[in-house]
Amino acid sequence: MKVTGDQALVKKINTSIALEAIQLHAPISRAQVASMTGLNKATVSNLVNELLEQQLVLEIGPGQSSGGRKPLMLLFNRHAGYTIGIELGIGSFTAILCDLSGQIVLEEANIPIRSNESEHVIDSLCDTITALRSQAPSAPYGTIGIGIGAPGMVDEEGNVLFAPNLGWRNVALKRAIEERFPGAIVTVDNEARAGAIGEWEYGAGEKAQHLVYISAGAGIGTGTIIGGELFKGAYGYSGEMGHMTIEANGRKCSCGNRGCWELYASEKAIAEAGKNVSYHSLEEIMQAAEQDEPNALHTLHQIGEYLGVGIANIINTFNPELVIIGNKLTQAERWIRKPLLRTVQQRTLQSHQHGLQIHFSSLQQRSTVLGAANQVIQLFVGRTKVSV
Ligand SMILES: [Zn+2]
Repeated sequence: MKVTGDQALVKKINTSIALEAIQLHAPISRAQVASMTGLNKATVSNLVNELLEQQLVLEIGPGQSSGGRKPLMLLFNRHAGYTIGIELGIGSFTAILCDLSGQIVLEEANIPIRSNESEHVIDSLCDTITALRSQAPSAPYGTIGIGIGAPGMVDEEGNVLFAPNLGWRNVALKRAIEERFPGAIVTVDNEARAGAIGEWEYGAGEKAQHLVYISAGAGIGTGTIIGGELFKGAYGYSGEMGHMTIEANGRKCSCGNRGCWELYASEKAIAEAGKNVSYHSLEEIMQAAEQDEPNALHTLHQIGEYLGVGIANIINTFNPELVIIGNKLTQAERWIRKPLLRTVQQRTLQSHQHGLQIHFSSLQQRSTVLGAANQVIQLFVGRTKVSV
């Protein structure tokens, strides 16, 4: 019998439902998968046999019986393959190798890049990818792919259209990586959107239905999850809230606008404030703040306030249940937390503060690398699940 498109789709959906139940609730029996998903037992049994053959699921010794024979329990095989996640920053990048559950096996943090010129950056990324692949544990599917979070606007084909902090326009990053690693799954997304996924899957996000992730580092990017899904916008460019105007007649920004949020609430504000003093970077200003240097304390306090102003605008717009602040500025949480929270409380509509939580990321600047890796895992699991 010829399998029709509809049958193939139904099978793909069912397999995905069964695999997700096993991922989330393992160890789990076939009968429990059936009762949890509403799929009938024969269907589950067939799907599980295929997943066992594909080595995406493992069977372990008998579990508790609810009367009768003890069932064999199923586990998601997180070691079926490994993936690389990369956060491309300004002047450096971080790469991890993790298993299919997001467990980090290897990490190369803050690898310096000598020049922002795209060919040079791509060469550096490829060197590190090659090194991580060669060190990956052996696995049925090997290293399945490479996910990259880039600091700029990325279209759905993985082209970096505009990354003002890197000075990039129209860099076909996904294609360049695919050409160097044929057969690998490659994803390229905006770093803050990847960060939102990272927090949602592995961090403070805890599968919140409505969350906004604020990536505050060299600039500011935002990733928004609405109704349990990453919001991309009509053409995939959503998330540039770092360039919302916060001072109508403010300073000029590299994006062409003036008074952008990130000028006042990211590392850019430190560079600006540091013009007449001895600190110019986040590390230096934190050292000065440790010594209670008044200018440093004042600058960090102001950054906290400005972060709060922007976050209040975002909360009033999206009514999220959770706002997560991530990336480098979380290192300065001890100085920026209070002014930030106070400003949000003062400036956000009362109704929108109901049930609202604001967290600093607990992933220690790994939100983006983990989210980028997860985007590859999602594609891999989706791809392998179809076997008609
Ligand atoms: Zn701007």
